[in-house]
Amino acid sequence: MSATPTFPALTEPDAIQAVIGLARWCGQQGWVPATSGNFSARIDLARAAITATGGDKGETTEANVIVADIDDNLTGTPHPRLSAEGPLHLQLYKDDPSIGAVVHAHPVSAVVLSRRHLDRGKIVIEGWEMQKAIRGIATHQSTIELPIFANDQDTRRLGLRVSQAMASWTQPVFGYLIAGHGIYAWGKDAREARRHLEAYAHLLTLILEEERRT
Ligand SMILES: [Zn+2]
Repeated sequence: MSATPTFPALTEPDAIQAVIGLARWCGQQGWVPATSGNFSARIDLARAAITATGGDKGETTEANVIVADIDDNLTGTPHPRLSAEGPLHLQLYKDDPSIGAVVHAHPVSAVVLSRRHLDRGKIVIEGWEMQKAIRGIATHQSTIELPIFANDQDTRRLGLRVSQAMASWTQPVFGYLIAGHGIYAWGKDAREARRHLEAYAHLLTLILEEERRT
């Protein structure tokens, strides 16, 4: 893993606006019910802007976004307004300097399939045209995977478990599922993170529909 950042540099205000844009868009999709979901954008190697705990994410404003130090919030006393799910975002930034934005939401297809397939540890996706929306995928004949992890209310511990599994994952992934909970997706910037989340959610909806009919 390189220490060289490859994410686009953002000013603090631009990162906050990127977070607001992601949160409101996800609210419009109906993927963050009852104040759930979290959205973040990296500022630099040490800091990220991230939605604060609580609040309807579809109505996020500047007042609902905090700037969090990555290391302090993973190992020290967390920011008083850091969401319980904040460590899962921050661990991704710590592990991979190429990540510029992270989105977490609860699309129904992700929540249902993650619980159904937890025993397998992943969902294998193949044969769908929409796979080409994932970075590096050029054909529907490819195979992509979404890892699945058991839910855990200790999110620092869960973040480390994800980190260890990702380090040895054999193919590039830009998201993972938490069983009975939801999906995390990321990209080099907010635009790519949104595209990845939208593509994964659509692919999972297709798979859920197919499973219901067979
Ligand atoms: Zn959640």
